[in-house]
Parts: sequence; C-alpha cells; structure tokens
Amino acid sequence: MRNSSPYEVLTDAFDQGEITEIADGYSEPGYTLPEGARGVAFGNWNKDRLGSIMERMGFELEWLDEWTVCSHCNHAFRTQPDSYSWKMFGAFLESSCEMVCGSCLADNPDWIIDEYVNDPHRAITFDLDLAEAGWVEVDGDWRNGWYGQEDKPAEVAKQHVPDGHDFVFVVGSVGQFELSFDLWIRPQ
Ligand SMILES: [Zn+2]
Repeated sequence: MRNSSPYEVLTDAFDQGEITEIADGYSEPGYTLPEGARGVAFGNWNKDRLGSIMERMGFELEWLDEWTVCSHCNHAFRTQPDSYSWKMFGAFLESSCEMVCGSCLADNPDWIIDEYVNDPHRAITFDLDLAEAGWVEVDGDWRNGWYGQEDKPAEVAKQHVPDGHDFVFVVGSVGQFELSFDLWIRPQ
C-alpha cells in the first residue's frame, strides 16, 4: 500500500469497510464542523495514511464504533459516551429502523413519543419540550445506580400514573455511579 495513490488508498478503505459513512456535520452538542470542512468521516483510522488523506481532503475524522449518522439530516451524533454525564442526543426508532438525532426529534416529537409512550423500559435521553406537547411532569426524585438507589421505572409508573393517562420517562442527569429519571404524564 505504501506506493499506492491516494485514490487507491481511499477505494481500498471503502472496499474494506474502513470508512463506513460520511456525515454533513455534527448534531452532537458541543461539536461543530470547522469553517470550510467538508464533512465528518467515520472509519477505522489505525492506518495513518488513510486518515491523513481524509484530513487533507477536508474531513473531520471520528471512530466508526463511537458515532452514528441521523437518517434525516445526515448529521452525526455519538453512540458512545465521552464523559460520565453524557446522554445520547438522539434515538433508535424501532418502527422505522432509523437512528434519528435530537434536533430532528425536537422538530418531530411524535416520532419518539409514539414509540416510548407507556414503556417503562425506554427513556428519552435529550431535552424535548414535552410541556409544549401537552405533557406534565410528575413531582419526584427517582434514581438508579450503585449505593442502593434502586427506583424501578415500572414500579414508579404503577404508583404515580393516574388512570386514564399515558406516561413517558426522561433521563434527567447521568453521573458516574447513578442516573436520575423523570416521569411525564398526559391525559389519554
Ligand atoms: Zn437529524
């Protein structure tokens, strides 16, 4: 490979699955595409030469197993934490088999609410204006983690959701050893 042209290095990388996807930019909070950059490339950058060719072509490089690309806006968000307090800015929608970022879901809240409603095993992990959609937050401080904080969403729902209401869970804060979650309800 040492004497191959950059074009050959690139085609080989796509053939071998070393570059898996190209995103137009970042959806992930805290990340922005530098001025003039062409996009974000996802791949396996163990081979130095491949990465430097992509960088020279104007791409930001990210690892393929830490990120995904929104099916709707083609912007990237992380699927693996980069800090203890990280929460996924997006969701996998089972009904359409798509990864969708938090910005697109904020524009179309029904996409995620329709899937997560009345399911104690799923929780929204990013800021979504549920009040705007007619939901009301139930007062409570529920936590799950080490050191005996063992609130179980299914039990919380059983105890706190009044008859005739739908519910949805939202992850509040995430720490190194525990996470908190919130319960929202809406009349059916
Ligand atoms: Zn999106």
